[in-house]
Amino acid sequence: MKSPEKFVYVFGSNRSEGAAAMKNLLGGKGANLAEMCRLGITVPSGFTISTEACTAFTEQGRDAVFELIQGEVLAGVKFLETEMGKSFGDASDPLLLSVRSGARASMPGMMDTILNLGLNDEAVLGLARKTNDARFAWDSYRRFVQMYGDVVMGLKPVSKEDHDPFEVIIDMVKAQKGVKLDTDLDADDLKELVQRFKSLIRARIGRDFPTDPWEQLWGAVWAVFESWNNERACVYRELNDIPASWGTAVNVQVMVFGNLGDSSATGVAFSRDAGTGEDLFNGEFLVNAQGEDVVAGIRTPQQVSLVGSQRWAELALVSEEERQLHYPSLQELMPDIYQQLLHAETTLENHFRDMQDIEFTIQQGKLWMLQTRNGKRTGSAMVRIAMEMLQQGMIDEKTALQRVVPDRLNELLHPIFDPGARKAAVILARGLPASPGAATGQIVFHADEAETWAKAGKDVILVRQETSPEDLRGMSVARGILTARGGMTSHAAVVARGMGKCCVSGAGAVHVDLKARTMSIGEAVYHEGDWISLDGSAGEVYAGQIATKDAELSGDFGKLMALTDKYKRMDIRANADTPDEAMVARNFGATGIGLCRTEHMFFEGARILAVREMILADNEAGRRKALAKLLPMQRGDFEGLFREMHDLPVTIRLLDPPLHEFLPHDEANQRTMAAEMGVSLGKIRMRVEELHEFNPMMGHRGCRLGISYPEITEMQARAVFEAALNVRAAGIHVKTEIMVPLVGTVREFNAQADVIRRTAATVFAERGETLDYLLGSMIETPRGALMADSIARQAEFFSFGTNDLTQMTLGFSRDDAGKFLPEYLKRGIYEHDPFRSIDQKGVGVLVQMAVEKGRSVRPDLEVGVCGEHGGDPVSVAFFDQAGLDYVSCSPYRVPIARLAAAQAAIAS
Ligand code: ADP
Ligand code: MG
Ligand code: MG
Repeated sequence: MKSPEKFVYVFGSNRSEGAAAMKNLLGGKGANLAEMCRLGITVPSGFTISTEACTAFTEQGRDAVFELIQGEVLAGVKFLETEMGKSFGDASDPLLLSVRSGARASMPGMMDTILNLGLNDEAVLGLARKTNDARFAWDSYRRFVQMYGDVVMGLKPVSKEDHDPFEVIIDMVKAQKGVKLDTDLDADDLKELVQRFKSLIRARIGRDFPTDPWEQLWGAVWAVFESWNNERACVYRELNDIPASWGTAVNVQVMVFGNLGDSSATGVAFSRDAGTGEDLFNGEFLVNAQGEDVVAGIRTPQQVSLVGSQRWAELALVSEEERQLHYPSLQELMPDIYQQLLHAETTLENHFRDMQDIEFTIQQGKLWMLQTRNGKRTGSAMVRIAMEMLQQGMIDEKTALQRVVPDRLNELLHPIFDPGARKAAVILARGLPASPGAATGQIVFHADEAETWAKAGKDVILVRQETSPEDLRGMSVARGILTARGGMTSHAAVVARGMGKCCVSGAGAVHVDLKARTMSIGEAVYHEGDWISLDGSAGEVYAGQIATKDAELSGDFGKLMALTDKYKRMDIRANADTPDEAMVARNFGATGIGLCRTEHMFFEGARILAVREMILADNEAGRRKALAKLLPMQRGDFEGLFREMHDLPVTIRLLDPPLHEFLPHDEANQRTMAAEMGVSLGKIRMRVEELHEFNPMMGHRGCRLGISYPEITEMQARAVFEAALNVRAAGIHVKTEIMVPLVGTVREFNAQADVIRRTAATVFAERGETLDYLLGSMIETPRGALMADSIARQAEFFSFGTNDLTQMTLGFSRDDAGKFLPEYLKRGIYEHDPFRSIDQKGVGVLVQMAVEKGRSVRPDLEVGVCGEHGGDPVSVAFFDQAGLDYVSCSPYRVPIARLAAAQAAIAS
């Protein structure tokens, strides 16, 4: 379809060179504009300059790309001139264009669109004569100069406290005239604005606003390419794992006008509710408006559908009369157009078989579609839409499973406000339920401060008049977002839903004073640092902190989870050390415990005393005495865990951390310990010093401890076996698995296996009964992986400890990597954090190799993973490929791992 020399693809009334399948080349927006043309949906004609031109721009620079694409762009404009019967640059009846960016993945609000391009001092007069509407012509020109001045020429506010300099001028002119709304300005006022804007540009930028339409066009094209590498685009890519190499396309399109009077409008709509997933066509529009007016939060938008409008009125506390008078729905105001829109929406949803987010403009009673894409949605909407589309027969089971991004399930598991605590709380203000969830935090007014505060461990709520792409980072660290202006499709709302973050938008009663750093609601004034709470599902703002509780999981979630079991190959276990954690894990569908860290039991209550006594003991007899005290407690712990897991496997790891972790390191605590245990402070200090290690990660830990002090292993093994026998008496047949940590050579494993097997024999003899159990090895040192075949001759299962394996293979410790890893990631030395997602090319090869070697000598070797990577969807996919039997992750990530495992199985 594509020749190497082709960079420009046209779409129009009866010719469309692109298609939806060409997203990589044309970007999402361009590909879908072309597809809409193919579907016979009315779209203003245009052409798309491909992402390859952007890549060439980054690599070879502007001049080289100009040579490459100039001819095709000229031909593209010619095509539009023919379609419209107008000429670009014609002063009497100008052809006006929009220039829109559009990357492969939709990046909302990331790159700026320029509207009404082609206007200048003469063309504006031509447009006024032609449309017989001077106000419209000057308003279009005013918008163009403003957008172009900002996006292409780079005229920005001086500081973050400053307002947009163009808006400052608009406010001045409005004040002079004594009017409130932009719509109150007449042609002469707008003309004055244009003059003032141009002077401002000249003064601040040192260049004149370009009057030549071609110069305007090329300037805009370059600006789009450059914007691919601007700060906010880079931040968005970083947050969403989008590679810089993709590039953006440029769409040049004929203008249609939503600001041509009261039979014109512009809006956005969703084929289903992006917040809840409800199958309800909904959206917002503004009469006599252009472009981003709807999302900019300048005027209160009206609802597209009648149902939506009525619901909105309830939330905004608007009476039915007032609603009908001032905020009627499109369905009531322009029923014909509404029907056409509904038809287009249905066509598109059926065609793409996914929820659509569409942009449209109505020009003097004619509907034009400007964009369609798969809409961003909250985690719960994702689940509901997938399951309902499955039910409606629009998609099959596999597709439904693939529609849900595993990590987004997190949001469904998020806490909600405790109903009791919430009832007692005072509602300060209402806004729109822009993105569900519950959040409590301290007020901050600037995005960068949100970052600083969050870094200091504070919970913050970012409060803004409205948000803009510059605020992305601050939004991503805030607990919740509150804006005073903007609708359900405002920047804050869209971005918050994308991040799965609680957001209340357009709380009109809230007045933000950035300079004073206050937010006032009526008489009450709230300062930076004051606590507030937000309910993003109800659109409510509360004073103070409100207690939260765990969310209840909806029916669709359960259905989705059931579906994962039908498709996944791997089992999902959980890392759990207590019966409570085990219960959470089982509720989330874990089918075993893949890692029980016995040392966690050592810290609880009175146990730490016995542990310390053991560490301080001078000889084996002393240690045995202390261990005897620990035995019943440890046995009790295991019994609790086994009971909770019924007949499922439970994998227990022997003591792993270095002993110094159990001793206090500061003097005050050492004194308390000395007093509690009746020993001298000197003795404790001495032991702490003896245990000091230069590199504890590679020190006296793991199986090395059990080899030095076999009596510890003996006590732990005895506790496991006795517990298993005890619960078996109650009819619970646990699949007991014991694993030896940090094995590097089979001799280490054997040394520990001897102790465990001997202990088993003793216990079984004492009790007169036996028990099946598995004895396995962790594979978490590179040598362990290299020697996997010889270890598998002795060990009955492997469990990869990928945290340690990563540290030791990469040669950097997880605790110290913070000093250089961020820089590494930024410079692409590592593509992602290897502690979050497994380093497939390095550590992953060790895993694959160890699996192969292990199974070569023991074909039925059970192999699993414990450690953070077990809950990371990308890593889970890798482990599925590597042929592992299960992954084990933290209880709250079990649903995520289940879904990821199902997706991996479907993909392979
Ligand atoms: P974004 O990627 O931020 O959504 P768009 O390129 O979609 O930016 O442009 C933003 C808005 O500008 C659109 O929603 C639409 O209202 C307006 N717009 C873009 N192109 C045109 C056009 N050809 N005619 C009229 N309005 C347009
Ligand atoms: Mg858009
Ligand atoms: Mg380990």
